Amino acid sequence: MLPRKPLFPGIIELNFQAGEVLGCNVFLVYDADQWLLVDIGYEETVDDYVELIRQLDFPFSQCKTLVATHADVDHVQGLAKAKQMLRTSVTAHPAAVATLEAGDRLKTMAEIEAQELHLDMPKVTIEHQVNDGDIITVGDLEIEVWHTPGHTDSQLSFRVGDVLLSGDNIYRDGCIGAIDAHHGSDIGAFVRSLERIRNSDVKWLAPSHGPIFRNDPELLDRTIQRVRGYLQMADFGTLAESWPLMDQWHDEVAAGTMPEGLQPPSA
Ligand SMILES: [Zn+2]
Repeated sequence: MLPRKPLFPGIIELNFQAGEVLGCNVFLVYDADQWLLVDIGYEETVDDYVELIRQLDFPFSQCKTLVATHADVDHVQGLAKAKQMLRTSVTAHPAAVATLEAGDRLKTMAEIEAQELHLDMPKVTIEHQVNDGDIITVGDLEIEVWHTPGHTDSQLSFRVGDVLLSGDNIYRDGCIGAIDAHHGSDIGAFVRSLERIRNSDVKWLAPSHGPIFRNDPELLDRTIQRVRGYLQMADFGTLAESWPLMDQWHDEVAAGTMPEGLQPPSA
């Protein structure tokens, strides 16, 4: 048996536990013998995680469920395999259900033709749907469900005491989960989710990628300001609300305004 290395009471992150980064963060939340996983990562690492869980002496029969933070392939590809190995259920937000049950390779970003990325996305049945305000219990531990859309429409976060398992909302360097129309990003919703995290009294953020860090209002503010800017920038295409330069261009075309510093050549 391996000694357990919890980061917080009742919370182990399996990459940190293993001393090796195998993929996205996989949180094992437990109380007494009961436990669940938040995300599982890619299919090829499921065997390693399951073996690690065995060595940590968590009984497979006491696995309550496998929770998906959201329906992106790097978090959920291994769900079907892990579900079979652990004989358990899968829990996700309603907006993730159709995507996961169909094994939708476009919406999970498993298929990116232009980058020659062609990954499998095994279909998986979702037994339990959770939404904002729900409580998931593990033993006597209460996990509060937050719906924090923006990165994707199905993005969930989970509050356990002072800690928020914060998904792909924000990382320690202020980066955020990829904004891409294909998996249901929404910039306005992203800003609101980040504001909610900033305004909360959560002390620690445990994201789905990279290290755990303090909920620092200044870091959140800088990121919120940047993301809010995208609402009026062309950077994320159809996800912007407006693009002020286009309004200027309409006016300049109508007025026949020449570019600054350019003289019209004689006809
Ligand atoms: Zn993601």
